[in-house]
Amino acid sequence: MRTINDAFSIGLGGLYLFASLPIAMLLAFFLGGEKALVATALLLPIVILGFGRFYSGLFASPLQQDMLTGLPLREALTNWIDASRDRVQKSGVQIAVIAFCLDGLDEQEERFGSGMRDAILSQSTKRLQSLLRHDDFIVRLGEDGFGIGLRNVQAPAIENLLELSKRLQSCFDEPFSEGQCLAYCSISIGIASESLVKKLTGQNLLEAAARAKDLAVLAGGGSIRVHSEGLSSSTHHERDTARELCQALETGEIRAWFQPQIRLADGAISGCEALARWEHSEKGLISPARFLPDMENVGLSQRLAEVMLKQSLSALVGWDQVGLQVPTVSVNFTGEDLRNPRLADYIRWELDRHGLDPCRLTVEVLESVVSESSEDAIAKTLTELSSMGCGIDLDDFGTGFTSIANIRRFNVSRIKIDRCLISNLDGKDDQRSIVSALLALSEKLGIEALAEGAETESEVEALRNLGCTSVQGYAFARPMPENDLRSWMEDRGRQDILKSGA
Ligand code: C2E
Ligand code: CA
Ligand code: CA
Repeated sequence: MRTINDAFSIGLGGLYLFASLPIAMLLAFFLGGEKALVATALLLPIVILGFGRFYSGLFASPLQQDMLTGLPLREALTNWIDASRDRVQKSGVQIAVIAFCLDGLDEQEERFGSGMRDAILSQSTKRLQSLLRHDDFIVRLGEDGFGIGLRNVQAPAIENLLELSKRLQSCFDEPFSEGQCLAYCSISIGIASESLVKKLTGQNLLEAAARAKDLAVLAGGGSIRVHSEGLSSSTHHERDTARELCQALETGEIRAWFQPQIRLADGAISGCEALARWEHSEKGLISPARFLPDMENVGLSQRLAEVMLKQSLSALVGWDQVGLQVPTVSVNFTGEDLRNPRLADYIRWELDRHGLDPCRLTVEVLESVVSESSEDAIAKTLTELSSMGCGIDLDDFGTGFTSIANIRRFNVSRIKIDRCLISNLDGKDDQRSIVSALLALSEKLGIEALAEGAETESEVEALRNLGCTSVQGYAFARPMPENDLRSWMEDRGRQDILKSGA
């Protein structure tokens, strides 16, 4: 970050030195002769250096200013809080700091260039200035954040600060523009008020707000966290878990494994499902049942969806490059993921970036999400994705009560009949009748059906007899890493060639 102070001190210091020396020496010669000239030549540089230090010490803080936004920097905020302290203690209102950062600013820069980064930061400053009061103090914090000092927070302080934080978040709902491009950025907010810190100093209050902001970031972005000494100890475990999961996502320890889906008519792969696996360096392989609940608790579900989507699309590109036929990849999304109004845009951009047609991606949503939800937000995302050309799979079908109206409203293109209806299908008449009814329903609705969790040859045979067209299950293959799927398909291809040659 370039500051005005940097530019100012270099320019002004040089100017002083060069401009003042000859003038002062001429003056000394005229007034005091040669001795005065020598004394001035020796003493003046020392005086200038001393004054320079005094001058920069005196004025450094007010001049510390971010060149891009024109805002003061961190130190100015701590000084402002310290200076406000006495005044506020007398009047009975509270001092507070809100620290926040723009989520995914680096990604926006990677996508649109550094001009977009600058545009987001300077447009954010204008939005903040129009929202806040003259009495509030805004500074730029670090590369992607801002801090706001407030010294007139009325009781109940936390409620009022949360209210203000929500207004801050909604002032980031509108996209930022740079040329023809539009970018969206949410913000992660940390709040600290004077009643929540042990000793009120500018430094303490700002650090507390920044720690709360870090927790909000760990929670997956777009969140608000309030600092308190008590809260920070009770969320200690949560913070450690969030940090560990976050690290596992960023370092690639949590990876997409793939399970093939087989078309029964010809045995070809009709697609594959991406399933999360944590390849833990000490604990070995961890299944999603063990880490997904924590992932959702600490608000990292959205980040997982992003990681799974990216890995799935890049695996698809890799398979295409070596000529393996994998028509689609299916990625699981939670209700919370689908509630994000920017998800469809994000998916479109990722598909574009990978050069893939939207029909290569299938979005899996649980039947429970669709049947329990009357929400327009989820229907809107799914409609957008389906009109882009993505497939929509209704997962664990048969375990909830989805109405036909909802199947239409959520643009479902395929039902995935749940494993509980498939296992032991060969020996159970009532189960066969249910599966048969579901297959008939899908046919009537003009959507596809896939049976999940077929483990044995005879289950597959029973499904074939019922007219089921696609199956996913251990009978064919378990989920496996990207490269293993590649070898598995190559082996299968070789066996097919041998069979047809025999
Ligand atoms: P799901 O989406 O219903 O995925 C199918 C699960 O059934 C997978 O378990 C798969 O390994 C397992 N499976 C497939 N065929 C068979 C079979 O023949 N027999 C048996 N016994 N199991 C079979 P997994 O990978 O442990 O995933 C469990 C659940 O965790 C998934 O159920 C899904 O709800 C969730 N999940 C997995 N990855 C993700 C993810 O990336 N994001 C989200 N939101 N959820 C995920
Ligand atoms: Ca699934
Ligand atoms: Ca399922």
